[in-house]
Amino acid sequence: MKENSICATRDLIQKKRIKVSEVLNNCLEIISRTEPKIGALLSVQEEQSRTLAMEMDRKGPDSEKPLWGIPLTIKDVICTKDAPTTCGSRILGNFTPCYDATLVSRLRRAGAIILGKTNMDEFAMGSSTENSAMQQTRNPWDLTRVPGGSSGGSAASTAAGQALGSIGTDTGGSIRQPASFCGVTGLKPTYGRVSRFGLVAFGSSLDQAGPIACNAADCAALLNVISGHDPLDSTSADLPVPDYAGSLALRNDLKGLKVGLPEQYWEGGMSPEVDSVCRAALEQIRSAGAETVQVQLPHSPHAVAAYYIIAMAEASSNLARYDGVRYGVRDDTARELPDMYCKTRSLALGEEVQRRIMIGTYVLSAGYYDAYYKKAAQVRRLIYHDFVQAFDACHLLCSPVVPFTAFHLGEKIEDPLQMYLMDIFTASLNLAGLPGMTIPAGLGRETGMPVGIQLMGPAFSEKLILQTAHVLEPYLPSLPRPAALNE
Ligand code: GLN
Repeated sequence: MKENSICATRDLIQKKRIKVSEVLNNCLEIISRTEPKIGALLSVQEEQSRTLAMEMDRKGPDSEKPLWGIPLTIKDVICTKDAPTTCGSRILGNFTPCYDATLVSRLRRAGAIILGKTNMDEFAMGSSTENSAMQQTRNPWDLTRVPGGSSGGSAASTAAGQALGSIGTDTGGSIRQPASFCGVTGLKPTYGRVSRFGLVAFGSSLDQAGPIACNAADCAALLNVISGHDPLDSTSADLPVPDYAGSLALRNDLKGLKVGLPEQYWEGGMSPEVDSVCRAALEQIRSAGAETVQVQLPHSPHAVAAYYIIAMAEASSNLARYDGVRYGVRDDTARELPDMYCKTRSLALGEEVQRRIMIGTYVLSAGYYDAYYKKAAQVRRLIYHDFVQAFDACHLLCSPVVPFTAFHLGEKIEDPLQMYLMDIFTASLNLAGLPGMTIPAGLGRETGMPVGIQLMGPAFSEKLILQTAHVLEPYLPSLPRPAALNE
């Protein structure tokens, strides 16, 4: 998938070896060929993109703009001016924001073309994109399987080459897990690294946007642009942004790097094929010069429980604004206000979203707050301390991303608890607010589906994570084109 890389394409455009319109046409051609099969996109901004590409070609390349002419897709939970932003929900089915999220305006300012919005689980709640109220997205490697979620549309669209990269969001694993299922690279930055202004809130203390692309260099190029302090988001970090892309060349091997292997993650019931791909990747980490050491994250078995209490509590509060008054859809048959709220929310919010609002309201209620929410908040702190201690003994941690490869459509959707367990290796990082990245590590020998490994680091260690991933890439098997797209 190298030919789809952001960095290579940007260089060709800058050297005038290819026009922005040609790059865009290629993406549009791939969309028309693959979209009927994978259903990754909720909207395509074709006309705006064509006009912009022609204008850019007329002006000629601007070397100051690091993403000049690069077509990207954006998860439909991120606000885009004059383009629908539905969050995969009927309740926002008719919502078009009048402003761009900060990260979107930064991408546009850097010269990127926002080509389309990607499918997702409703309000980013899910692990398979099957909770979208709009359509089903299929995995480009096997159309009978899910792309993962909740950023499944972004991962599938990137794997298929519909755009050169995408921006997803990760509240409990939603960048890293679909990236692993679709064989692409995805980075969840440190909480506060990327502005959340214009990102529709799910779990405000957990949500973070980040890049999904073909390789580490492309993720670095995207992260360079979207990172940084934003006065419109009081939780965004007022820290300088390192030159992630420029610093990749500074490291040629992993000598001197200590990589911790959390025992609880490596003994955590992976399928045999995931286990063997991940262990082979560890060998390569050692071949590249790193030392591996075993570390403990003793509270990680409680991460999924704590995550679901906190995420649902925050969601119940954040989603109170969809009441039929201020946004989107309203049921007009009701005569009284409470009845209108009730009918609108019953009609226009999906089953999983309603389940979470109810559980979230319950754990915040006066009688149960101490037993559930407060306890989960305490466990969250312990999980954070586990990481702090682990990083005393190593620079980065390495683990599997998901215990299994992509499962079949319909296989887990009737069993929410099974679906929640998909987050076992990813959710603790969100609870701790730390950065993590999925790197494709090979194909499972039973299913033939992609398997990723996860690198995790201390707060604001994205530079080291990206450098490590960049060094590792040539050591890991390079994936062919997703098979299902050739049929
Ligand atoms: N699968 C998790 C959930 O359903 C994570 C979702 C996310 O990261 N947005 O909550």
